Parts: sequence; C-alpha cells; structure tokens
Amino acid sequence: MNEIYLKFPARSENEVFARNAVAAFMLPLNPSLSELSDVKTAVSEAVTNSIVHGYSSDMGWVFLVCRTDGDCLEVEISDEGRGIENIEEALQPFFTTLPGEERSGMGFTIMQTFMTEFSVESEVGKGTTVRMKKRIGRRPEADA
Ligand code: ATP
Ligand code: MG
Repeated sequence: MNEIYLKFPARSENEVFARNAVAAFMLPLNPSLSELSDVKTAVSEAVTNSIVHGYSSDMGWVFLVCRTDGDCLEVEISDEGRGIENIEEALQPFFTTLPGEERSGMGFTIMQTFMTEFSVESEVGKGTTVRMKKRIGRRPEADA
C-alpha cells in the first residue's frame, strides 16, 4: 500500500499538475500507455469539474488522494464547492448545467468508461467527492 495526499487551489493550470502527479504516482504499477492515458483523462475530468462547477470563479481547495492496493490504483478527488443537486441527472451523457460554453456533459461518462470503478458523492452547499479505481497491468506483456 502506498498513499499520497495533495491539496491545491482550484486554478485551471493545476489540472495539468494533478493528472501528471497521478501518472507519476502510478508508474510503479507498470501501466501501459493506454492505462496511463485513461487515468490521466479521468483525473483531468474530475479536477476540471471541481474547478469549473464546484467553485466556478471562486477560490477553493481541491483535494486529491492516490492510493495503490496491490495492482489497483485508487483516486479520490474532492472539493468543498457548491455540490450537485441531482446526481442521477448529472451522470447522464450530455447532461450539463453549463451549456453553450465548451462543456459537452461527457465528463462523468468518460470517468465511468475509462476506470474500473467509479462513484460520486455530493451534498449541495458542502461539496463533491469522486472515487475511482483502476486495475493496472492485467495484460500478458506487462510481465516482461
Ligand atoms: P464536460 O465534462 O463534457 O466538459 P460537464 O462538466 O458539464 O461537461 P460532466 O463532467 O459529466 O459534464 O458533469 C455533469 C454536471 O454535473 C455538470 O454540468 C455539473 O452540473 C455537475 N457537476 C459535476 N462535477 C461537479 C462538481 N465537482 N461540483 C458541482 N457540480 C458538478
Ligand atoms: Mg465535466
């Protein structure tokens, strides 16, 4: 078991930092390029949501926990922002509360598709936590 905690301000440039930090953390699991890219994309979507929806233009902290458990990577991304009123609705493909801008409503769908496990917990006015897991290295060439 290995575990890191990160806390950073909800600034868009920290999205790049967060996804690369998770990529660096998971290297000992010997991921394939496609596994790395899946995790980076999912982390990027979750962090962007905290920045864009959780805090809008307000300042706030984004919290990131990365953990390895055997060949499994666990990532938790949370904010203390505005929260989600209707999670079921928010999870629908193409659902967005920011239409017309560059949002397409596909963030949660991407996280669910690219990761092995996904869950989201949220309370209006309190914040949102996304938990994701991905099993790494379950391919024959990973033994090399
Ligand atoms: P895209 O991710 O394609 O740019 P999007 O962010 O609107 O668009 P999702 O990431 O799937 O789409 O999120 C769906 C909706 O869930 C958002 O429009 C927003 O209303 C809500 N949401 C997601 N994450 C958060 C969060 N951390 N805090 C508050 N609301 C959130
Ligand atoms: Mg999104």
